[in-house]
Amino acid sequence: MKVTKAMLKAETLSFDIAIVGGGSGGLSIAKQMSGGSAKIVVFDFVKPSPKGSVWGLGGTCTNVGCIPKKIFHTAGIMKDQLQLYSGMGMDVELKSLEFGNLTKNVQNYIKSLNFLNRTMLMKGEIKYFNELATFYDKETIISSKNPQTLIHLLQGEEVKPEDYNVIKFKQAVIAIGGRPVMPKIPGIEHAISSDDVFFLKQLPKKALIVGGGYIAHECGCYLKHLGSDVTIITRGRFMRQFDDQVAERLHGKFQESGLKFSGDTTPLEIVKNGDKLSLKAAKKSEKGEENISFDDFDIILFAIAREPVTKDLNLNSAFDGQVNVMKDGRFKGMFKNEKERLAENLYAVGDCLEDVPQLTPVAIRAGRILSGRLEQRLNGIDKEHPPLNYELFPTTVFTSPEYSYSGFSEQQAIEKYGKDKVICYHREGSAYEKALSDTDKTTYFKIVCLKEKDEPILGMHFVGPNAGEVMQGFYVAMTTGLTKKALDETYGIHPICAEDFIDLNKLSTNPDCGKSTCCS
Ligand code: FAD
Repeated sequence: MKVTKAMLKAETLSFDIAIVGGGSGGLSIAKQMSGGSAKIVVFDFVKPSPKGSVWGLGGTCTNVGCIPKKIFHTAGIMKDQLQLYSGMGMDVELKSLEFGNLTKNVQNYIKSLNFLNRTMLMKGEIKYFNELATFYDKETIISSKNPQTLIHLLQGEEVKPEDYNVIKFKQAVIAIGGRPVMPKIPGIEHAISSDDVFFLKQLPKKALIVGGGYIAHECGCYLKHLGSDVTIITRGRFMRQFDDQVAERLHGKFQESGLKFSGDTTPLEIVKNGDKLSLKAAKKSEKGEENISFDDFDIILFAIAREPVTKDLNLNSAFDGQVNVMKDGRFKGMFKNEKERLAENLYAVGDCLEDVPQLTPVAIRAGRILSGRLEQRLNGIDKEHPPLNYELFPTTVFTSPEYSYSGFSEQQAIEKYGKDKVICYHREGSAYEKALSDTDKTTYFKIVCLKEKDEPILGMHFVGPNAGEVMQGFYVAMTTGLTKKALDETYGIHPICAEDFIDLNKLSTNPDCGKSTCCS
């Protein structure tokens, strides 16, 4: 049963723009439009994870994503780099690692970012509700701190007026991000997700991570480097969304550093024995499928996928089935085509979009572009926004070693242009800063080019220290049409890692690849 108008509070607030979700995408719009003439409201609400983790304003990136991950990653690197000191003639010893203090300091830092976000909204005179929002109709949102209240309201049940808010909007943006998907297997209540890992008070002695993507590997690497015994399992292949050649090399490096892996492994059940956890799984091999068990773990962390919680938005009923929602809850099409919107006055940005890189800078840029369009629509102009180029974006995987890339992998380029049109070069190098230690010094460079005049570069890949810092500048050059010829005609900076991108001349398709005669 739908809630009747009479049941809604008589006093409603009216806004030009309503933003549902205060993460990277939503706050980017708020920031861009703050101080302008538009009346804006932001709703941001975090439903606790099944383990009870909750956090403040700023979304995934600030609270349970990029920021805490980068700090834990840095802590892992710092511990690992202790190995460099003796070669430099320094006698340095790590006396203790108080993991609880690391977590506490990270959480305090995040609280300061939450505060800055709230201050930004306040200064911009943007109304903020720390409440779950749902659409009542095409111009009304109802919100409450208690998700049950909204369910009662939508079912037409009586609810105390002070328990919810009603607002009218001219245009609305959905920026609800995503949450980790947990499989429905027996014992899953004992597992955690990336939403919980940054709240752990103790470093797990033994950690089992389920997932083949970057989040699983990043968590695995920093836990390993801080001192955990880490195993990562996945249903299929590891890191299959990355360049095959790079993924294979990285995996070799991870294994050398002591991480354990099991591919083609499907989780079946989690069993708790006292304070230890076991995972029963099925592993495919040439002989068929066998049942195996991963035993005595302190944590089992699932990082298999993320999905938006679109069902909370009541879109189907509020927009009369007009909004196209995919099976995984994502929205199709926005920013691929300059005219896209979800309904006449409804837009979406960020991780809740289909086929979009799920990255903070992508959500922020989409938010900025959309702000211009929203502003114009308020003035009666319906101008299209420029589509975003999702093929050419840079990103970094914060593992040890780090991996950063922009644009295409070799296999993506071949799929798009055909094998005959693509040529790839690569090389191994050495990080001079590690020259006096026994640690792994190798770096890796690969470029994916079109076999045309001057060889336009479609993709750049780098494995080595500060990979993201290196890639950011090369990415800018790629957006302005960088070619291999131009790269080869630049001066390197000596002695740094990135100079090895210049004059790459070993073909990645060399059948001798992997032997010392090829890329090393
Ligand atoms: P979010 O930031 O998720 O914000 C959505 C907000 O909306 C959330 O606060 C949510 O609780 C709220 N919300 C949802 N539904 C409602 C509702 N009905 N009412 C009110 N509020 C609601 N990206 C990078 O670029 N670099 C990285 O290094 C990186 N590392 C990551 C590491 C991890 C472990 C994870 C999980 C992600 C990482 N990301 C990284 C991805 C990045 O965090 C996301 O791409 C980005 O946060 C997406 O922004 P968004 O605005 O779409 O959604």
